[in-house]
Amino acid sequence: MMVVMKPDATEDEIRAVVARIESTGARARPARGEEVTVIGAIGDREHIARLELDGSPGVDRVVPILKPYKLASAQIRHGERSVLEISGRKVGGDHFALIAGPCTVESRDQLLTAAHSVNAGGATMLRGGAYKPRTSPYAFHGLGIEGLWLLAEAKAQTGLPVVTELMDVRDLDPVLEVADVLQIGARNMQNFALLRAAGRSGKPILLKRGGGATLEEWLLAAEYVLADGNENVILCERGIRTFERASRHTLDLNGVALARERTHLPVIVDPSHATGKRSLILPVSLAAVAAGAAGLIIEVHPDPDQALSDAAQTVDFAHFTAIAAAVRTVAAVAGGYYSQAL
Ligand code: PEP
Ligand code: MN
Repeated sequence: MMVVMKPDATEDEIRAVVARIESTGARARPARGEEVTVIGAIGDREHIARLELDGSPGVDRVVPILKPYKLASAQIRHGERSVLEISGRKVGGDHFALIAGPCTVESRDQLLTAAHSVNAGGATMLRGGAYKPRTSPYAFHGLGIEGLWLLAEAKAQTGLPVVTELMDVRDLDPVLEVADVLQIGARNMQNFALLRAAGRSGKPILLKRGGGATLEEWLLAAEYVLADGNENVILCERGIRTFERASRHTLDLNGVALARERTHLPVIVDPSHATGKRSLILPVSLAAVAAGAAGLIIEVHPDPDQALSDAAQTVDFAHFTAIAAAVRTVAAVAGGYYSQAL
């Protein structure tokens, strides 16, 4: 259920509603919008209905949340988009996130060169995996802790917030020390223990869509994080598995637009993993932004052909800089359309 407060509801009235919801054992999550505060009440519907909050002081109306994901639903924010604050940088709404860097942190030289170059090329955050999920057990799995130290150094030198993957709950503490955003990879989208641990840390979460996950499953995975009181979730579409083998995956552009419609969370796109092909990063990035993506995460390496992972989909700095400029042009135009109510 969702309790919509009156525009002039006082803090005391909001607190009183929260306390009454919680008295039933349900969770209350107030979301303070620009115009009204909406309190999400997640728990036993009948218990909440019995409170008859409808006539309570400060309450405008009580409405059911129709989707199975409640706190992630667009409905709960009355169409207002979430804007996340990540180490001083905003993501979501009109704030475009351009996350760039190598697939995997390979060496000090590789990472620092990449970090300075993507910074100069227009990136707003740095990506780089220290712990890598690889299809083959014989592939390079990242530098682990040493990779984290290098990310910390790159951040100290460039000021770019760091996005890095958490694969295992046991790595949570060291990863938290360095990451500004915890990436939950596609393969772990429904690793609920990992989602809960990451969510409870309070750190912003970049939640990749599983390659075989439906839109609803993806949003329900985000709901796990939100239900634990962490509202800082960025959704990332990175391609789903279809019959088509000509590219690595198939970018679900419908899913990007739909996720944007159905949730208030920022939705970004990973054209690198979605396509697996360097030549497709520019066109797919532009399409993603035109479809309403609030950001992109792109793999960039000083010498892409020598990358130890995902070489075929990795671009060099000149290529990245051209993509960044083109994307900003499209984002400026598309943003104008999305700000109009259709
Ligand atoms: C990655 O971002 O390096 C990665 C492994 O992505 P995904 O989980 O989307 O495959
Ligand atoms: Mn990769």
